[in-house]
Amino acid sequence: MAGGIRIALIPGDGIGREVMAEARPCLDWVRSRGRHLETLDLPLGADHCLATGETLSEATFATLRDTCDGLLFGAVGDPRIPDGHHAEAILLRLRQSLELTVNFRPCLPLLAEQDGGINLEVFRENTEGPYCLQGSTEPGRAVDLAVHTESAVRRLLEAAFQRAAERRRPLVLAHKANVLKHGHGLWVRIFEDLHRAMPEVEARTMHADALLCALVQAPRSFSLIAADNYLGDLISDLSAAFAGGMGMAPSLSWAPHRPYRCAALAEPVHGSAPDIAGQGVANPVGMFLSTALLFRHLGWEAEAADLEDAVARALAAGARTQDLGGTLSTKEMGQAIRSRLGT
Ligand code: ATP
Repeated sequence: MAGGIRIALIPGDGIGREVMAEARPCLDWVRSRGRHLETLDLPLGADHCLATGETLSEATFATLRDTCDGLLFGAVGDPRIPDGHHAEAILLRLRQSLELTVNFRPCLPLLAEQDGGINLEVFRENTEGPYCLQGSTEPGRAVDLAVHTESAVRRLLEAAFQRAAERRRPLVLAHKANVLKHGHGLWVRIFEDLHRAMPEVEARTMHADALLCALVQAPRSFSLIAADNYLGDLISDLSAAFAGGMGMAPSLSWAPHRPYRCAALAEPVHGSAPDIAGQGVANPVGMFLSTALLFRHLGWEAEAADLEDAVARALAAGARTQDLGGTLSTKEMGQAIRSRLGT
């Protein structure tokens, strides 16, 4: 991507703000490497919502959509807003309205004590399924509608097949088409369609329950897993556990068809973690690795690789936050990573 790049920063709530503060200096670091980068700080989240009643205004959304190339997101969620409506209005709105269909969640084997070897990538559809927020609570019953559109399923699976072809790794589709005949039936049909078009990719479908069992028993036998929004959410949290826990997992969501200028959002897989927010103990690794994924999406491959290498070297040297059995604070872990970038 040539020319000036504009990225919006949305730290959000809880530990989202703490981990974002550590990764943020990486933006100055890419500038020091000659990249033209403008940033836009957006204080969206629970504090802003409680103070102003505003979640994500139409004007702010339009600014993001039309004047930014990507978003760096922390996390949203705050016990002072128990129904989480602000989180829906911010994060789900961004994912859905920017049509960020593809959610890529790699799980990198960075911890020596994890015994290496588990290198999983999950492709999760990010805008539909039962998370499309259409439903109702009625007397005696509750309904959550799961919508799967051919265009979104195809986009997600095309991205997964492309990745499998590039990496020459096997791809598995997790589904429950035996029960969810309509929605997951569509997933299986499109998957088989794409496999016919790319027969060189080793690809198969698996019932999600059997897949989860096999994933726990033999994680090294999996490489790329594609799934709908709901199953992908569950499978990617399990795969984060193989990488050392929620604090280790990055993600990048993007819109392959680029309907708007803003076509990517990078965020750690974890949420705002109210149980540890404010204690300065959150692991910022997922946030750093998400920042690297955004750099790669922007075409800054050398910077992405150097940032990932800095994280790997900090961990290899023994830098560990509490969730990894260590003693470093969020800030100390951030410093351990950044010092390896020379910042
Ligand atoms: P959501 O509902 O958005 O998934 P959540 O706050 O309920 O968010 P997560 O933040 O995803 O849940 O994580 C669950 C738990 O994992 C947290 O409560 C916290 O104890 C731990 N955790 C998550 N992220 C981190 C992190 N970066 N560092 C250390 N522990 C973490």
